Amino acid sequence: MSETQIPRRAVFLDRDGTIGEEMGYVNHVDRLRIFPFAAAAIRRLNQARIPVIVVTNQSGVARNIFPESLVHEVHKKMISELAAGGAHVDGIYFCPHKTEDACVCRKPHPGLLDHAAREHALDLAASWVVGDRYADLEMAHTAGSRGILVMTGYGRGEYELHHARWPRQPDALADDLTEAVRRILND
Ligand SMILES: [Mg+2]
Ligand SMILES: [Zn+2]
Repeated sequence: MSETQIPRRAVFLDRDGTIGEEMGYVNHVDRLRIFPFAAAAIRRLNQARIPVIVVTNQSGVARNIFPESLVHEVHKKMISELAAGGAHVDGIYFCPHKTEDACVCRKPHPGLLDHAAREHALDLAASWVVGDRYADLEMAHTAGSRGILVMTGYGRGEYELHHARWPRQPDALADDLTEAVRRILND
């Protein structure tokens, strides 16, 4: 096995509520609101040469609220705004389905992580997932990764209202993506 094929650890980031505001369905590019601190946080991961992969549920596609082409437009905008802040992501994976479709890629299922791991030679057991919902953590834990819950987006309410019933707690809590990245880099 050549050196480039040795699986690497990665950081998987949820999009809505983690990289940007939780807006409900992002059915127009104007509804993507990247947090002002997101680019700097992601840049620190870039500088540490840790692959950054975005994983996001976009059931608005299956619900005919917006076409798949809009998801790509929104991601193009996200990429350019992050680039303006000197940051990049190494991949973006999304699930276009709704729960009733019973796919393997809708969080909390780990399909998006598995897909990315195959395409980028990633070591899921050494990787982190950062998200604002329990589904992000459940996905992380099912895949053998660790999960950080951020308090942005749904995070604070999700934690305060429900964490006592969660079968497994987050591996860490963070105020926002900046603190989550600091936590990961200190690991
Ligand atoms: Mg989210
Ligand atoms: Zn899916």
